[in-house]
Amino acid sequence: MPELRTLVIVLGDQLDHGAAAFDGFDAACDAVWMAEVAEESTHVTSSKMRSVLFLSAMRHFAVELQALGRTLHYVRLDDVGNRGSLAAELRAGIALLQPERMVMTEPGEWRVLHALQAVASASAVPLEVRDDRHFFGSRQSFSAHAKNRKSLRMEFFYREQRRRLGILMDGNEPAGGQWNFDAENRGSFGAKGPGVVPPRTRFAPDAITRDVIALVQQRFAHHPGSADDFAWPVNRAQSLQALDTFIDERLPLFGRYQDAIWPDQPWLYHAHLSAALNLKLLDPHEVVARAEAAYRAGAAPLPAVEGFVRQVLGWREYVRGIYWTQMPQYRQHNALEAHEDLPAWYWSGDTDMACLRDAITQTLQQGYSHHIQRLMVTGLYAMLLGVEPSQVHAWYLGMYVDAVEWVELPNTLGMSQYADGGLMASKPYAATGKYIERMSPHCKGCRYDPAQRTGVRACPFTTLYWDFLLRHQTALAGNPRMALQVKNLARLDDAQRQAVQERAASIRRGKVGVPDHG
Ligand SMILES: Cc1cc2nc3c(=O)[nH]c(=O)nc-3n(C[C@H](O)[C@H](O)[C@H](O)COP(=O)(O)OP(=O)(O)OC[C@H]3O[C@@H](n4cnc5c(N)ncnc54)[C@H](O)[C@@H]3O)c2cc1C
Ligand code: SF4
Repeated sequence: MPELRTLVIVLGDQLDHGAAAFDGFDAACDAVWMAEVAEESTHVTSSKMRSVLFLSAMRHFAVELQALGRTLHYVRLDDVGNRGSLAAELRAGIALLQPERMVMTEPGEWRVLHALQAVASASAVPLEVRDDRHFFGSRQSFSAHAKNRKSLRMEFFYREQRRRLGILMDGNEPAGGQWNFDAENRGSFGAKGPGVVPPRTRFAPDAITRDVIALVQQRFAHHPGSADDFAWPVNRAQSLQALDTFIDERLPLFGRYQDAIWPDQPWLYHAHLSAALNLKLLDPHEVVARAEAAYRAGAAPLPAVEGFVRQVLGWREYVRGIYWTQMPQYRQHNALEAHEDLPAWYWSGDTDMACLRDAITQTLQQGYSHHIQRLMVTGLYAMLLGVEPSQVHAWYLGMYVDAVEWVELPNTLGMSQYADGGLMASKPYAATGKYIERMSPHCKGCRYDPAQRTGVRACPFTTLYWDFLLRHQTALAGNPRMALQVKNLARLDDAQRQAVQERAASIRRGKVGVPDHG
């Protein structure tokens, strides 16, 4: 075998031919290593849709690498003797190929970084981990931003990014004279509903994807959800097509309906680009540039474009910074001391709460639900119920096609569960069922009533909201952004408090929310 100089490690969420790991690649003496392993679908139980997307996208990338003439060592999930974990496969790969050194772009998960570094050091083969140019800023630049700040807030970070990069800026001022158009971006659809929404860009499974679907169905038969309706982009060409249709067809209304929910309508005016971005099939620089160009050309209004840029340039980079500056301790946070189990129906959608049933069913069918469903339906319910954050984290990381730990964990633990005590979000996103009633028509078709706090028709969100305030009033009273909500507790007399607590206990015992128990 000719001598191997560099083995370039490519993980399932690093499918970018221009990644730093390929800098200096010499086809004469370097090779690429990729591996499909069961552990990545089982360390948290991965939905069928998520596993199919990752495996199919990896196999498409492998075909492209070969077309580029790059030597590739690729381990398939169904290879006889597959060792089941990245670490075990890399160890075996090193023993077989004996590279002089290894290179990788920094992975999206602390666990994987440390596992592969441990293999490299045990094998005495140097492993160089290179910065990920995909992002607008490096991990070091976020650390510098965070240093000496008492509290971190996305808004300050986002403005700094806009100024530094000149994105949506007119000279030194933000385009349109303001940084934030949130007030214009909170619309609901009203009684008539969304009307005709541009269809989602679908990609029919090709032979590679069909093989993977069969493999996942056989290998992970008991995993949640289904891949029957698989239509996600699996390569760069498809991802670019998805970007084009988003910019042309949905971006103009993205902002206005960003927070709206409608039954059986998972896609609405959202981008559906998170999976392509997180697998590195799309580059956020090009995505943001396309959105800004649409605004400059008069094809999309500023509030919509600013709202979108805020998500990609602001939130997406911010959560990554939080992840890498806080790990590995971050995973352990449980500031609200929540210890309940996640209800079993999170894995099946079998609940009589209309909003939750819809959000979970979409998640099981598509590996997707939009941000407000994740934050203010499934996430809110788990927080109000008091579910252990690690169980909520395992659910989100396993279920969604866009889930990679660097982005999923801060969103789940920090933004949605307030488990980090306020590092990510300045207050818990606590609300009654009235919020969901405002943003969707779900409550009209539900057996519960969001206006009722207690009694058999009381909406579980509403009961649990008051119970949440009662349980955490001491801790929350010190938070100026929660003061008003906590003060409202004074409206409840002792009997009402007791009734809230009794019904909350009954919800926790599984006596409410499950069809047969009603
Ligand atoms: C509990 C919870 C868990 C989440 N888990 C994930 C996850 O595993 N992976 C993931 O990519 N996003 C996650 N998000 C953020 C957000 O919900 C998704 O990025 C978004 O719903 C993806 O759909 P879209 O592409 O249609 O996004 P759009 O709503 O159209 O937004 C455009 C883009 O902005 C970015 N974005 C928007 N909001 C966020 C955010 N809060 N954090 C980071 N990026 C954001 C995404 O790249 C997205 O593609 C989570 C949010 C919550 C509340
Ligand atoms: S009444 Fe409560 S549970 Fe039912 S849809 Fe409305 S918010 Fe959801």
